[in-house]
Formats: sequence, C-alpha cells, structure tokens
Amino acid sequence: MDNNCEVGRISPFFEVKNTTYGGRACFSAAPLEKGTVVLEANDSVGTCVAYDFRKEVCHNCYTYQDGKTMKFKMTYPDIAHLVTDEVKINAKKFNGAGLWFCSEACKLEFLTQPHVIELIACYELLLSVLKMMQKRAVDELQERSREQITEDVINHAWLEVIDSWIPKIDKMKLSKKMSQLPDITEEEYNCARFVIKSLFTLKYLDPESQTKAAFKTLQSNELSKIARFPILLDFQILIFKTLYIILPGYTRQNLSVKLFRHILGSEYGNAFGIWEQEELSENREFLGYAVYPRASYFNHSCDPNLTKSRIKGTMVFTANKDVPKGEPLCIDYSGLLSHTMLKRRQLLKENWFFECCCTRCESELQAIH
Ligand SMILES: [Zn+2]
Ligand SMILES: [Zn+2]
Repeated sequence: MDNNCEVGRISPFFEVKNTTYGGRACFSAAPLEKGTVVLEANDSVGTCVAYDFRKEVCHNCYTYQDGKTMKFKMTYPDIAHLVTDEVKINAKKFNGAGLWFCSEACKLEFLTQPHVIELIACYELLLSVLKMMQKRAVDELQERSREQITEDVINHAWLEVIDSWIPKIDKMKLSKKMSQLPDITEEEYNCARFVIKSLFTLKYLDPESQTKAAFKTLQSNELSKIARFPILLDFQILIFKTLYIILPGYTRQNLSVKLFRHILGSEYGNAFGIWEQEELSENREFLGYAVYPRASYFNHSCDPNLTKSRIKGTMVFTANKDVPKGEPLCIDYSGLLSHTMLKRRQLLKENWFFECCCTRCESELQAIH
C-alpha cells in the first residue's frame, strides 16, 4: 500500500503518512529526544476570538488580562494610509472593525500583514450588519425536523443555494440585496468572522506552500457534526448568504460554496482552542479558536508523546519523552487526560467523532473486562 500522503514532510522531525488503520498520522522521521520542539506553527488560516471576549483579548497575540478591556481599539487614523480606491472604508462611520489590542505594538504588528486593509474592511462591514440586527428582534433559527441528516440532505440544501438563491441575488441591485440580508446573531457573527479570516488568508497564501497543501487535505467533519447538531446546516447557510451579500468583490470572488463548506467542515474537529494560561488549568477561559493546518495531523492519544503549548499566536509541539524513529506523534486534544477512560472516550466521540483506541484506553478497557 502506498502510504505517502500529499502533505508529506512537515518538519525535519516528522512526516504525515496514511495509516494501515485508516486516516493519517504523523510519524517521527528520526529518534527524538525529550524536549525536542517538533513544530512551531504560526501559520493559522482561520482564527476567531470568542464573542464574549472580543474586547478582552488582544487580536494579535491573544493576551487576556483577567477580563480587562484591551486599551487599544482600531481607529480610522490607524488605517487611513492603507485605504485604496478599491478598498474603501467610511471614515466617519468606522467602528473599529471589532479589533482590540493589548498594546500599540500589537496593533502595528497586526497592520503589517500584507493587504490587511481588505480584512479590516470585511470585518467592519460584518460588524455594521450585526449592529443593525441588534436594533431589531432576530428570529431564532428553527431546528430542522427530526429528518435524518445525510450527505444527500446537506448537498440538497446547498444545491438550492447554488441553483436558485445565488442567481436570484446576482440579478438584484445593491439596495434590494441588502433587504435580503438574513438576521444574524452574535454566534453567527463570530463564525462569519472566522470565515472572513480564512478567505483572506487563503487568498494570499502561496499556492505551493505546505500550509495550503495541508489545508486542502484536512478532513472535513461536516456530516458528523451536522448529524449531531442539525441546526448547524441552516446556521451555515445563513452565514454564507450574509457573506455573499455583504462582502466586496475582492473577497467575495473567492467565496464559493465548496470552499465555504471546507472551511467550516474542516474547522469541526481540527480547530485548536485558544485557552487562557496553561493547558491543564481548571478555570482557564476559552478565548477563541484557530485552525493551523500543518498541526492538524497529530492524532490524539490519552498517553501523548507530544505536549502542545501556545506562545502568543504560535502553537508549539514538544516531545515529552524520548521517541524512537517511526512512532506516531500524538497530542492530547483538549485537557482530557485526568478524566476516566469512559469519560475521555465519550468526549472524544462527541467532539472529535472517533473511538479512541490509544494504548492507554486499550489497556484500561482490558482491565475492565
Ligand atoms: Zn497583543
Ligand atoms: Zn484514549
């Protein structure tokens, strides 16, 4: 069997291969000493700060200071020099694009990203839609009837968007289009920001880069996730419609149903939580999430040989024991190690859609029987 996978070697320390037991895994390419940093990933594609923490977390380095509002909001004078004929921003109405920073230096660093004005303009448009919605009552999404969610049901719902909704919207004038805007809530706003950030990153990502290759081949968990939460299908369609209506051409040109579904489908089960403090702290806050495609091929183990930590926006993966060459490299997906075996397996099944068959689970299972 050909076990090479198009992602291939991600760092000198490991490569991604197809496994005999299904799916892909990272295998050490050399013997690793305890303490070896096997990957430092700072190339997130999509990121999002949780809505409740939007003013309390730095949008550049994810600093969180016990719930204090960040002192540095984006202002129009900060971005005036970046505005172009194509990317326009209304100076008088500018609301800060929902961007807050811990320091002037972080704000400046955020602004050094090439083409960042496009990202800011899209965030700002979305924020103005949310503000409009907050002034009126928003209809809650109705839970889909208990019809079984299948691949066909999902495809059918999207085909309707492609075949009937998009052509109808494309024929409308802007004012009419705006009247078709669906109601969005804070949750949808947040998810839409994640999609905007993903579209922006992907637009300018080197097509030959490993990050791009790794993103393209990320597993989509769309069906498992929607089968568990049927409401997500309508939630996603609503976000797609909102973005399709409001995004300016320079970003909308990249918004296809196919890419949108991959962005959200691969986020489920692949995004890394951005947590306050250290991984195992009991009271840590969930500040947001991000997708790091190159770091998404580590499998989970309840006895992991890698420890993940976060330094600002960089995820760092370090060997926590000596690892021989050719071993699968695994992480703990989400601070699960102190739970009982049954609880761990239940959480992994519900949130990451697989039965854990790691050596620790296997031996603890055997001890029961
Ligand atoms: Zn910062
Ligand atoms: Zn396990």
